[in-house]
Amino acid sequence: MTQTSLETTSPAKTRNLAQRWSDDWSRSTTLALVGELGSGKTTFLRGLVGALGGADRHVRSPSYTLINLYDDLEIPLAHADLYRAESPPQQRTLGLEEYFGRRLVVVEWADRWTGRWPQTTETIRFEHQSQDTRTITRRKEPPS
Ligand code: ADP
Ligand code: MG
Repeated sequence: MTQTSLETTSPAKTRNLAQRWSDDWSRSTTLALVGELGSGKTTFLRGLVGALGGADRHVRSPSYTLINLYDDLEIPLAHADLYRAESPPQQRTLGLEEYFGRRLVVVEWADRWTGRWPQTTETIRFEHQSQDTRTITRRKEPPS
């Protein structure tokens, strides 16, 4: 399975990477973001939202709502964060599946998802190397 791994040395470089990759994605794409707190998942999404014509400074991890919808982008996007929704009942109330294939769906803490992934899911892994360095690995398959 093809896999691309890159190192970024600043938040801006992580945002730029998302911008470069965004051409490959559409409203039928699901992105499963995996990585510990502070590894750069939300920073990456900020770059993606910026690339799609949104105001990236407004991007926050959804805390209580768990899903944020961005309707005014070039591709409508749904941003979910499963950090506080680990259990199947909690995840069912999200209704995340409704958005699969209909929006560009970006899921933080994707390794906590207990449901099924669409076949077209890509996994992006974030590893914290040092203060400002992150390894970001993209793989065209759902998290294993
Ligand atoms: P997560 O959503 O994975 O918890 P965030 O994107 O919210 O992570 O936070 C990443 C933190 O790490 C931010 O404070 C950001 O400024 C910092 N940072 C430092 N270097 C990088 C880098 N290369 N890529 C992304 N974030 C970085
Ligand atoms: Mg986050």
